[in-house]
Amino acid sequence: MVITIDGPAGVGKTTTAKKLAEKLGFQYLDTGAMYRAVTYFLLNNSVNISSEKDIEKMLDILNLELDFSSYDNIKVYINDENVSSLIRTQEITEKVSEISALAAVRKRMVRIQKDTVKNGNFVVEGRDIGTVVFPEAKHKFYLTADYDVRAERRLNDFISVNEEFNVNKIKQDLIDRDKYDSSRKLSPLSQALDAIVIDTSNCTFDDQVNQIYKHIERSKIK
Ligand code: C5P
Repeated sequence: MVITIDGPAGVGKTTTAKKLAEKLGFQYLDTGAMYRAVTYFLLNNSVNISSEKDIEKMLDILNLELDFSSYDNIKVYINDENVSSLIRTQEITEKVSEISALAAVRKRMVRIQKDTVKNGNFVVEGRDIGTVVFPEAKHKFYLTADYDVRAERRLNDFISVNEEFNVNKIKQDLIDRDKYDSSRKLSPLSQALDAIVIDTSNCTFDDQVNQIYKHIERSKIK
């Protein structure tokens, strides 16, 4: 079974997906980490991203491995190199939307996503999971939150790793990334018509997870 969680940047999809998966005894798949990994790989190899041919050539030698066995620390490997923290830098965050909009990249990532969940129960989070990757999923959720709340949460994450950031800059970056992700031609960020919307502006993570969990449990009774 697949449960999908989509939504814009910084609404807490990853933490929610992890906690929900743990509660249900499912595995979880963070598809944003996959797009970040490809971005890291292409930039690190100085690939000309305006050449579809060059991108396809590089994707052929990309061996992307995801270890989601621990609910706390997902590990991402590219050709055996652990890139888990390298994909979270500001440089990658600024470039990831542009790379994610490329047809060759999306085609490859979606194939890996479908293969990964083939033999298991998964909570999968991203931008196009309920609309394009698993439109047949029975349980779909779409998370939203006010920009101010999202920026404040991000700021606290950065403070906890001793990075200095300005809350207005963080807010603007979230707005820009959402705009790019929602307006791209291929698989834009959008809410599936049959998704349940959860506004997390005034929720703790535990509230978010419980709301989703209750929806799933309730549908078993019906
Ligand atoms: O979720 P996260 O912020 O790590 O995602 C990084 C980027 O990856 C997004 O801004 C988006 O451009 C891309 N992405 C995507 N489709 C997905 C998941 C993420 O295009 N399913």
